[in-house]
Amino acid sequence: IKSKLPNVGTTIFTVMSALSQEYNAINLSQGFPNYPSSKKLNNLVTKAMNNGYNQYASMAGNIELRLAIAHKYELLYQSTYHPEREITVTAGATQAIYTIISAFIRPNDEVLIFKPAYDCYQPAIEINGGKTIPIQLSAPNYKVNWSEVALKLSAKTKMIIINTPHNPSGTTWSKDDMLQLQKCTEGTDIMVLSDEVYEHIVFDEAQHYSVCLFQDLKQRSFITASFGKTFHTTGWKIGYCCAPDHLMSEFRKVHQFNVFSVHHPAQKGIADYMQEAETFLGLPAFFQRKRDLFLNLISESRFKCKPSQGTYFQILEYSDITDENDVDFAKRLTKTFKIASIPLSVFNENNRDDKVLRFCFAKTDDTLVKAAEILCKI
Ligand code: PMP
Ligand code: GLN
Repeated sequence: IKSKLPNVGTTIFTVMSALSQEYNAINLSQGFPNYPSSKKLNNLVTKAMNNGYNQYASMAGNIELRLAIAHKYELLYQSTYHPEREITVTAGATQAIYTIISAFIRPNDEVLIFKPAYDCYQPAIEINGGKTIPIQLSAPNYKVNWSEVALKLSAKTKMIIINTPHNPSGTTWSKDDMLQLQKCTEGTDIMVLSDEVYEHIVFDEAQHYSVCLFQDLKQRSFITASFGKTFHTTGWKIGYCCAPDHLMSEFRKVHQFNVFSVHHPAQKGIADYMQEAETFLGLPAFFQRKRDLFLNLISESRFKCKPSQGTYFQILEYSDITDENDVDFAKRLTKTFKIASIPLSVFNENNRDDKVLRFCFAKTDDTLVKAAEILCKI
């Protein structure tokens, strides 16, 4: 058979987690917490099952959950998304991203992405016939040069995908970055797919600049988010997307045939949990403490770093340790030193190797202590 995605193999997350398991290593590769989710939240999902929330949710998602999401946007960003028409609950952010791209991208449409880029964007663009236009950012700051972006825009540019806080680098975009994005696309129909799955995980008192804060952008943008990150439940695969009415109606044409609706008891449980407390407000402090613990513990190691500004990832640069490429080094660390990470080159254009590995610190303190002990010996 002739593959529709000839250059795609198995994702690095699956590869590294499997290798980690095989070698019984500490797994700081794939991003997921290794501590339990909230008992209260789990109980609310169980309660939803026992109360009969076991049949299809409405196509756009349980309405109580959509109301809770709308309330969050009012509270945090003073931004209105209509729960009936402008919010759809999805099977994680991944499904939202795929659905947005397939609803809008036609053969030969150009989509700008910034590299290193989360790995689900490019295959989704290409399987729909679109053309990826990469903009490679450079370690360690991964700052965007906005004149370069302006040069890459063309009459064929249909969409720009952005992601702040950024996976894998742990950098965040400033208000000025968002204004520059708005300025260089002003007066066009270019859509923005804003991957904001780490919106609640920003450090050092910084603010998350959601695309919904910028009126001109908001009219052309989709936001995707994930309860997996917010409630430490990556396995539930519940996320959502928000967009103005005219975009959301196109999204739903695809969503209804792609998945129709997603796990109902989890939606109801999350809706009830969001009524009870704005628990996401505690996430910056929760993860900043973990970031700082990890960084303090490895301060004597030979790895170099700038503290993560957001997400639950810390990147470490290792050129003082070896010349090995990052994929080989990550595999050797897993097999020999029993610690798994993610090599950044897989997210870069032409697999550029900056000798950087990504470590997930959404782990128990005990795991972080053990991981740091190993990293200090390398
Ligand atoms: N975008 C980014 C940047 C992510 O890091 C992730 C998951 N780690 C996703 C999208 C996908 O989220 P979900 O698991 O909810 O599909
Ligand atoms: N987003 C997670 C990460 O960056 C992985 C999700 C996945 O395995 N697809 O580690």
